[in-house]
Amino acid sequence: MKRISRVLVAVLWLLALALVAQAQAGITKTSFGKTDLGENIDLYTLRNIHGVEAKITNYGGIVVSLKVPDRNGKFDDVVLGFKDLADYLKPGPYFGALIGRYGNRIAKGRFTLNGVEYKLAVNNGENHLHGGIKGFDKVIWAGNKLKGKAEGPALVLDYLSNDGEEGYPGNLTVRVIYTLTNKNELKIEYSATTDKDTVTNLTHHSYFNLAGEGNGDILNTRVTINADRFVPTDAGSIPLGELRKVSGTPFDFLTAHAIGERINQDDEQIKFGSGYDHTWVINGRPGVMRLAATAYEATSGRVMQVWTTEPGVQFYTGNFLDGTLTGKAGKLYPRRSGFCFETQHYPDSPNQPSFPTTTLKKGATYRSTTVYKFSTRR
Ligand code: BGC
Repeated sequence: MKRISRVLVAVLWLLALALVAQAQAGITKTSFGKTDLGENIDLYTLRNIHGVEAKITNYGGIVVSLKVPDRNGKFDDVVLGFKDLADYLKPGPYFGALIGRYGNRIAKGRFTLNGVEYKLAVNNGENHLHGGIKGFDKVIWAGNKLKGKAEGPALVLDYLSNDGEEGYPGNLTVRVIYTLTNKNELKIEYSATTDKDTVTNLTHHSYFNLAGEGNGDILNTRVTINADRFVPTDAGSIPLGELRKVSGTPFDFLTAHAIGERINQDDEQIKFGSGYDHTWVINGRPGVMRLAATAYEATSGRVMQVWTTEPGVQFYTGNFLDGTLTGKAGKLYPRRSGFCFETQHYPDSPNQPSFPTTTLKKGATYRSTTVYKFSTRR
């Protein structure tokens, strides 16, 4: 009898929690402070029916926090980030941001399109990185709640990147929709149009730590990447042009391996990236949603799958975090305390004729979708 009533209480308790979570599902907007120029910045809180919560600001489209349950139902914030807007305004490691107009590198900040050479900022060694000095991670997007999306609460972010901004041709009208689905997915849908031929390669730059941000390094997280090949680079992380088989290399994640298992191996490509900082060529057809990667963290039981329509995924293991940045809960972020799965076209595509094109023609629509799906394992 006692046992039955205990079970009953537990069931009722879970039911009550579920009802509260449902009642709180939706999207709300609060202030995230002001920029140095006095512009008001917003913070949107998206909550699904299971209590999963994402906080996203219209400054840089940054995912500031993402709280998902572990195998016992305990919620932790699994993305690295800062507490205050002020820290995001400074040059930084692109925590949680939208990246554009061109994610990753363009060699020497130059490319030629329709016979015209365009010059971009050189902000990473001798190369161009992540859209330049003031990329899409450092601009203010127009934010709006998207009503009536059955999948879950959604935020629309719009941005007009002017012709010539950061050296790129064409007025680029960009829309990003973040949806926190009731299947515990953070879904990102990108679209863009231009009034002049240009190049586009948009991505998202969350650093994940499935044990919770600030809880040590990610070296024990086990990763699978659905890719037979990767994109080898030179010492400046510019692709050599070939797509190389992963088999027999530390880049073979066709079966699960701990991130740390081979990260310090005596391998030229590993040395060039100071660890993993490369693009993998996702198996299957680009343009079609397919599984790119899976990460599993054993202490929490959290699993994250990455699905995308993109041809590639940059797997970056936080090699350049150096323990000097303080995270939102006051903990320092040591080297390799977060990893990124940046779905994208291959780096330097504008200069690599054999790679899938990143040219966006006037009148065409760029489309890309990526889903980060969370679950747990016993
Ligand atoms: C790059 C890294 C870079 C990081 C920015 C990644 O996408 O591949 O090389 O350091 O972004 O912090």
